[in-house]
Amino acid sequence: MFCIECGSKDKQMVGEICIDCFLKDFQMIEIPKNINVEICSHCNSRLEEGKWSESYLPEDEIIYRALERNIKISDLVENEEINLEIDQIKGTIANCFVEVVGDVYGVSLDETHDCEVRIKKTVCPPCSKMQSGYYETVIQFRADNREIKSEEYAKADKIVARTLDKQAKVDKLAYCPQVAKLKEGYDYYIGSFKTGRKVAENLKDEFGGVIKESPRLISEDKSTGKGLYRIWISVRIPEFENNDIIEFEDRIIQVSDIDKNRVVGIDIKTNKKHNIPLKNMDNIKLIKKSTDIETTTIISMSPKIIQILDPADYSAVDLEMKDDFKDYNIGDEVKIIKIDNYIYLIK
Ligand SMILES: [Zn+2]
Ligand SMILES: [Zn+2]
Repeated sequence: MFCIECGSKDKQMVGEICIDCFLKDFQMIEIPKNINVEICSHCNSRLEEGKWSESYLPEDEIIYRALERNIKISDLVENEEINLEIDQIKGTIANCFVEVVGDVYGVSLDETHDCEVRIKKTVCPPCSKMQSGYYETVIQFRADNREIKSEEYAKADKIVARTLDKQAKVDKLAYCPQVAKLKEGYDYYIGSFKTGRKVAENLKDEFGGVIKESPRLISEDKSTGKGLYRIWISVRIPEFENNDIIEFEDRIIQVSDIDKNRVVGIDIKTNKKHNIPLKNMDNIKLIKKSTDIETTTIISMSPKIIQILDPADYSAVDLEMKDDFKDYNIGDEVKIIKIDNYIYLIK
């Protein structure tokens, strides 16, 4: 056998040519002279092979990864070692150096390449949506039959901020471009449906209440027939608050706790504890605010009667003795609430 290129004999052959002629034009790796990397100047995500990836990386690491991703190594190379170096970074351009050592057909080779990595700052699609004020959901924070108090707004603001913080790890549209402060309540504009629903749930978890979603068609893409929807989610928190007196199914109950799904309270006639599922919120009637509760003094006691002073006119009023008040003494202060001209002792 002789090499068809150089004619030499007695050499290791690769097909019809000798190893020397083969290696003359052989390259262990291919790498483009110029590599472009797009980075979102807002959130630092990188565009890699057409996809935005979100994890934060320092600039050096971004350059190394871009080099790695663009190296194509020949199948003939064995025992390869690749060394990447950044020579210098000038502005957005990094001059890099790639060195490869490896074996090809038993011959050790060493090869170097120069490469320029250019970092282009752009804005990723979610960030450009955020900058343009795009939103998919409006959370309408409202109270039933009353105005929302400033401390409730403060608490709601915190819950919204906390939810957005947490969701930011999984949802790039977890942002609130606008809060509309209306007389009837706040409207929180939220980037995505997913995070909007989380915000609504978390508000309900804190305040109790009822959630209702109303999707609205905003526009329609004529070519695809696909609609752009937004969802308005109303979170209606109860009219009553802790210590208020409510009426539900003929029971008069003093509220002791409101959680995400139920109202807990004490029946003021029997002093027994009751739970009312919040899905019945529309059938719960607020009858007295906690500010209507009065304090008065016990003036006499018998096994069946407890006599108190009516704070309105200082007349003595006999009330039926209840087990919970047996340990009280004359002169002790008690709380009362007047409902329909009847006075109830409450704890
Ligand atoms: Zn040859
Ligand atoms: Zn971004």
